[in-house]
Amino acid sequence: MKILEIALLKGMDGTGLSSEEASKFVELGEERITEILAVTEQVRKKHKGDEVDLCAITSAKTGLCAEDCSFCSQSVNYATDIKSHTMVESEDIIRSAKEAEASGAREFSIVTSGTKVEKERDVEKLIGALKGMKETVEVERCASLGNLTPETMGRLKSAGLESYHHNLETSRSYFPHICTTHKYEEDVEVVRNAKKAGFYVCSGGIFGLGESWDDRIELAETLTELGVDSVPINFLNPRPGTPLEKSNNLTPRECLKIIALYRLMMPTTDIVVCGGRNVNLRDLQSMLFAAGANGMMIGNYLTTPGRSTEDDLNMLKDLGLTPKAH
Ligand code: SF4
Repeated sequence: MKILEIALLKGMDGTGLSSEEASKFVELGEERITEILAVTEQVRKKHKGDEVDLCAITSAKTGLCAEDCSFCSQSVNYATDIKSHTMVESEDIIRSAKEAEASGAREFSIVTSGTKVEKERDVEKLIGALKGMKETVEVERCASLGNLTPETMGRLKSAGLESYHHNLETSRSYFPHICTTHKYEEDVEVVRNAKKAGFYVCSGGIFGLGESWDDRIELAETLTELGVDSVPINFLNPRPGTPLEKSNNLTPRECLKIIALYRLMMPTTDIVVCGGRNVNLRDLQSMLFAAGANGMMIGNYLTTPGRSTEDDLNMLKDLGLTPKAH
């Protein structure tokens, strides 16, 4: 049987491609992208229908991070033009959540730079923000706060946090090439702790760091083993001053093939396209849903601007897709 026939069968029945099958899939050239998308669109429709999850984020603490992730402008190890700030107030977060809701987002994530949020004052600000959001805003409450202790995760859950986000960024094998200040296993442990705490867990990566297709398959395998609920897919938008500032090797069709790989290896998992969408997919942006994504981030990304939400909503309408309701 040909690999796309296997992909369709195993996608529709929800089992997904094995790593060996995925290796065969990635051998298909980019010139076959329309055949690939004909398969992934059926798989997405079967498990996710025509509803699209829209999420938005706010950067509640920016820059000042001691880690050295080579793609990130928020690291103190690199001379970037990032405007750093410490944790904003609870009210600022609630205001951003209201703006996100008004723009059509179903999920709203509070994101902080740094290894983890550990100051009690900052945890209390987050608790205040979550309680305020619960009372006044109808968005799903998500946060990306680093390597929290299970105890802090529990306190935030009690305050109303529903989802936890923590990217693994790339494969275990490639990780030492992009970060030397902490071990991959520490990130895996955060994901395990978030699952144990009962959160809906989003964990994915960033592509275009110089990783191979084998690394992309390895990351999908790890995320499958961890049983994550959602995989955010980011594409590198090289930031001036970072070690990867001159890397920009992804093509729009390669980006679509990455999304397709994840849909075919993880057919029933939510797949959300996030940072780097505009600059990497360019005019092929509207094809990301046929490639298998069932969600996207709207509004601005962490440190770079997104395109207008109006354009994104019009794109969904034109495609016959609808934003998932609250
Ligand atoms: S990706 Fe996160 S942990 Fe890594 S340098 Fe940036 S803010 Fe720090």
